[in-house]
Amino acid sequence: MRHVAIIGSGPAGFYSAEALQKLYGEGVAIDLIDRLPVPYGLIRSGVAPDHQSIKAVSKRYDKTALSANTRFVGNVTLGQDVSVEELKGLYDAIILATGAPHDRPIGIPGSDLPGVIGSAAFVGWYNGHPDFAGLDPPLGVAGAAVVGNGNVALDVARILSKTRAEFAGSDIAGYALDALEASAIRRVHVLGRRGPHQIQMTPKELGELGHLQGAAPRVDLADFPAAEEDATLDPGLRKSVAHLRDFADLPQDKAKTIDFDFFAAPVRIEGEGRVERVIVERTRLDDQQRAVGTGETYAVDCGLVVTCIGYQTPPIAGIPYDDARGRFANDGGRIGDGLWAVGWARRGPSGTIGTNRPDGFEVADKIAAACPPGSDGGKAGGAGLDSLLESRGVSPVAFDDWRRIEAAETARAREGSPREKFASIAEMIAALGR
Ligand code: NAP
Repeated sequence: MRHVAIIGSGPAGFYSAEALQKLYGEGVAIDLIDRLPVPYGLIRSGVAPDHQSIKAVSKRYDKTALSANTRFVGNVTLGQDVSVEELKGLYDAIILATGAPHDRPIGIPGSDLPGVIGSAAFVGWYNGHPDFAGLDPPLGVAGAAVVGNGNVALDVARILSKTRAEFAGSDIAGYALDALEASAIRRVHVLGRRGPHQIQMTPKELGELGHLQGAAPRVDLADFPAAEEDATLDPGLRKSVAHLRDFADLPQDKAKTIDFDFFAAPVRIEGEGRVERVIVERTRLDDQQRAVGTGETYAVDCGLVVTCIGYQTPPIAGIPYDDARGRFANDGGRIGDGLWAVGWARRGPSGTIGTNRPDGFEVADKIAAACPPGSDGGKAGGAGLDSLLESRGVSPVAFDDWRRIEAAETARAREGSPREKFASIAEMIAALGR
């Protein structure tokens, strides 16, 4: 028997477990350890609440979690309840699937003003993540700036712009739905430091903005290259750019607008005690397609700034870390003897949910090469972890427990919504009657 601990129960963690099950059959015991009492990581608290079809992938993960050789060990925090060194003594392999839950700082003057929020916090807030439920973003303001031209910027701009009715069927946190409905925001500026041909927004998600009930996207065609140049783009990007061009023909007759400001790099955030405006420098592209400032600036009036410029993995003491890339230092997933990284903790915050599958399978193959199926490493595995946690008074949450939390969340859902998430760990544990 081989024992593997996977830290983090998001997509990367689950795909790694699935791969190990396929490679080892019954010859492996897997513990999926998570600091929250609930599984699925970004599927639960990162994927937009109005994109329920994407969240349905968790059903596939359930099959993995319900296998006899795999346990969900929730409510256990690495570095607090158990150390990496202790896990090394108990398991043949440890896989860090901890994702990239911290915002990359924008690092411009004024970015510490109240009202400047990173997307990890803002997305966590509307998704009911216990770390961010108390965020209280300033929504009683007329303007918001969303920095970045990736899919997270799109999610944030859309969530800020939808009507209450458009959230029907979503699992947006009830407090966020109420706050967004009462929001005074009428103008959302999406600030891209490069041009329409450099966006990282996928067509389906971008196209949605053209069909909102109460908001219309707005572009300035002067920012676009000649239409013939679109033919040089790969098909996905070409479709996205086509959506952007179509936005130019939309009537501007909605209560809210979503302005795409291209070639617009934020250089400073200003305000008396809170955000009042972002100073943006107009840019142009150099011959490497990098944004370079032109020296010309303008102000975007806003009381909320959400930076959607990428994420980083928090370091763990004693584990090699790549500061420049904001992830664990690793060679094809291998950090060191018996220690591995997968998903965003391995490669940084890029790709879709499915990208994590080959990633997990590749690392599982490497683990199988180091610890061949059919062999025994003489480790104590989960039984050893259980006694260690018990001696420390830590009560893990098992998968069946999570199912009870899930049932309670379903039972208290508003009409039409799949669930009303508990937004604090205390409430989750209370739902178990503990
Ligand atoms: P992303 O796709 O890497 O986009 C980051 C954006 O931030 C880029 O436009 C980048 O511009 C800009 N940026 C970076 N530093 C900046 C700075 N200092 N000032 C101004 N702009 C800056 O990251 P993301 O949007 O956070 O998404 C993360 C991953 O999750 C992506 O792979 C994304 O596709 C995925 N995701 C997918 C979905 C979906 O499929 N529905 C939804 C959400 C997220 P440059 O290009 O100039 O660097």
